[in-house]
Amino acid sequence: MNYLIMALIAVALYWAVRKRLRRSPRRRSAPVVSSGVRPNIGIPMTAAESQDERAFNEKVFQQLERNLVASGYFEPARLPKLMADLRQGLVPFGRVSVRAAVAGDRFLDVSEKRALGLNSRRQYAARFIDYFKPECLSQIEPRSALENLFLDASHRMSRLRELQRFKVAGSVDGVTILSSGCAAAAKMKGRYNLDRPPELPRPDCEASFCGCLYQPVIKDHV
Ligand SMILES: [Zn+2]
Repeated sequence: MNYLIMALIAVALYWAVRKRLRRSPRRRSAPVVSSGVRPNIGIPMTAAESQDERAFNEKVFQQLERNLVASGYFEPARLPKLMADLRQGLVPFGRVSVRAAVAGDRFLDVSEKRALGLNSRRQYAARFIDYFKPECLSQIEPRSALENLFLDASHRMSRLRELQRFKVAGSVDGVTILSSGCAAAAKMKGRYNLDRPPELPRPDCEASFCGCLYQPVIKDHV
């Protein structure tokens, strides 16, 4: 718990420093504060930061494509079209939207839904359901299955980015694992080296998507 308090103090200090920087526009061009942490939230994005954001989104999409393939739910021939749909829903900062993928102008009728094993009270566009292998539809709820695969890609890449930022910050000594309720991550007690942290999500995680996090351990003497 001490680490949590130290992390909170570090965040409070960080915001205090940032507030001062914002008041003085001249100093925006040199946003490196004494702790060595480079502020990167709250101010308009620089060209380099929006470049970073685009690169990050690209990594999320590459991971998403791997997730879609690994799930086995989708018709391989239709994956490129599904990926194109999902890219249309792309919004900055990793907010997940599957709206463009689930949209359509013809919806399945009750008998079609029953034949596929789908919940007959929910609305499904025929175009969306075509992305799936029919034999999988009775085992999943297609929309949440897709959302979870997207969330997983986004969280997985965010965690890797966080680790990278902890390394750059220089004030982070290691990480602990903050479980979002899953037993697999709750077992991971103790502090881990930044260069060799355990993989998140844990391979035996049972959540539909894992929300567990790396929590930075701040160095005693910065
Ligand atoms: Zn988990």
